[in-house]
Amino acid sequence: MDLWNLRPVTLPAELETLRRDIRAFLGAELAAGRFTPRCDQWLGGWDASFSRRLGERGWIGMAFPEQYGGRQAGALARFVVTEELLAAGAPVAAHWIADRQTGPGLLRFGTEEQKHTYLPGIARGERFFAVGLSEPDTGSDLASVRTRATRVVDGWRLSGTKVWTSGAHHAQTLVVLARTAAPAADRHAGLGQFIIDLPHPAVQIRPIRLLTGEHHFNEVVLDEVFVPDARVLGEPGDGWHQVTHELAMERSGPERILSTFPLLAVATESLAAAGRLGERCALGSVVARLWALRQMSLAVAGRLEAGGVPAVEAAAVKDLGTRFENTVIDCVRMLTQVEPDPGATDELPRMLAEAVLHSPGFTLRGGTNEILRGVIARQLGVR
Ligand SMILES: Cc1cc2nc3c(=O)[nH]c(=O)nc-3n(C[C@H](O)[C@H](O)[C@H](O)COP(=O)(O)OP(=O)(O)OC[C@H]3O[C@@H](n4cnc5c(N)ncnc54)[C@H](O)[C@@H]3O)c2cc1C
Repeated sequence: MDLWNLRPVTLPAELETLRRDIRAFLGAELAAGRFTPRCDQWLGGWDASFSRRLGERGWIGMAFPEQYGGRQAGALARFVVTEELLAAGAPVAAHWIADRQTGPGLLRFGTEEQKHTYLPGIARGERFFAVGLSEPDTGSDLASVRTRATRVVDGWRLSGTKVWTSGAHHAQTLVVLARTAAPAADRHAGLGQFIIDLPHPAVQIRPIRLLTGEHHFNEVVLDEVFVPDARVLGEPGDGWHQVTHELAMERSGPERILSTFPLLAVATESLAAAGRLGERCALGSVVARLWALRQMSLAVAGRLEAGGVPAVEAAAVKDLGTRFENTVIDCVRMLTQVEPDPGATDELPRMLAEAVLHSPGFTLRGGTNEILRGVIARQLGVR
C-alpha cells in the first residue's frame, strides 16, 4: 500500500478552454453587479440564483454521469471550475456541500431511485444539502455520535441533536449520521446515514450565530423523525466507511487553500498601485507557498480522478492549506498596515475584516487540524 501518494498532475490543455469560459462568466457576473467578491464565500455566500446560473452552464455536479444530469467531466475539470470560483470570491455556498460531497456520496452508496431523485437537481443548482455529523458532545470523535436510529416498520426513527450544521436553514435535504446499534468493541460499527427532506415537522432548525451576527450554521433537533427505508443511504451499520469517503472529498479541495485568496489578490494590487514594491515582493513568498499547496491539492484531485480515496493526503493538504489561509491574513495586515473594517467601502479593509472574523473556523471545520495530524500519524505508523 502506498503510504503517501501525491503524484504531480499536469492539467490537460483542453481544460484551459474551460478556465477561459468560467472566467468570462465570472467577469460578466461581476460587471452586471450580480455578486461582490468576498473571502470565505463557500461558507458565507449563499446565493441560490448564482448556483442556478452555474448549473445551467453545467458547472455543478459536472463529474456526475450524464444519466444523472452531469457531464462525466472528471475531478480535474471540477478542480478548475472550483478554483476559479473561489479565487473570484463568488457566492458558492448554496451548492457547495451537494456538489463536493453529498452528490459523490449518493453516486457511490445511493440506490438508483435516490440517484435519480437527487442528482439531477444538484447538477441544475437547485437541490441544496446540509450534513449533520457533529453533535454537542461529538465533534472530533465522530464515532461517539449519540443521535439514535431505531428500527421501526418500513424504516427508522431518528432522535438527537446536531450542531454547526451549515446551511440547514436553507437546504432542502439533510444527511444525518446516526447510531443504528449500541456501541460495541468496534466503535466504528453500528452507524448509518439517513436522508431527510426539509422542511420536516419533526426537525427543528435553530440558528447559531457567529460573533459578527451572521447566520451560517445551526443547531438541528431531530425528534422521532421517521425515515423510510428508501431514504437510508448505503447500508445501516456501514456509516463510518461511508463518512470516511465523504470526508476525503470534504477535506481535499482548493477551498482549504483559497478562502482568503480574494484578500491576497486585492492586497497585491493595492501595494502595486501605491508603488510599495518592497512589500509587494514580500508577498511573493506567500504566493510561492500557495503555488506549492495548489500542486498538492491538484495531486489529490488527480487521485480522485483515478478512483482513489486519498484520505491521508487530503488531511495533509487541509492542515497545511488552512494554516496558509491564516498566514495570508497575518502577512496582509503586516505589509499593508490597513485596519480591518467590515463596513468599509474600500475592498481591502472590508475583506481583511471578513477574513479575520471568519478565520477561527478555518482550521476547525471538516475536522480540526490536530485530528488530521493524528490521521496522518496513524497512516505513517507513528501513532
Ligand atoms: C465554519 C464551520 C462549519 C461547520 N459546518 C459543519 C457542518 O455543516 N456539519 C457538521 O456536522 N459539522 C460542522 N462543523 C463542525 C466541525 O466539524 C467541528 O467543529 C469539528 O469537527 C470539531 O469538533 P468540536 O467543535 O466538537 O471540537 P472538539 O472535538 O470538542 O475539539 C476541541 C479542541 O480539542 C482538540 N481535540 C479534540 N480531540 C483531540 C484529540 N484526540 N487529539 C488532539 N486534539 C484534540 C480539537 O483539535 C480542538 O482544538 C463546522 C464547523 C465550523 C467551524
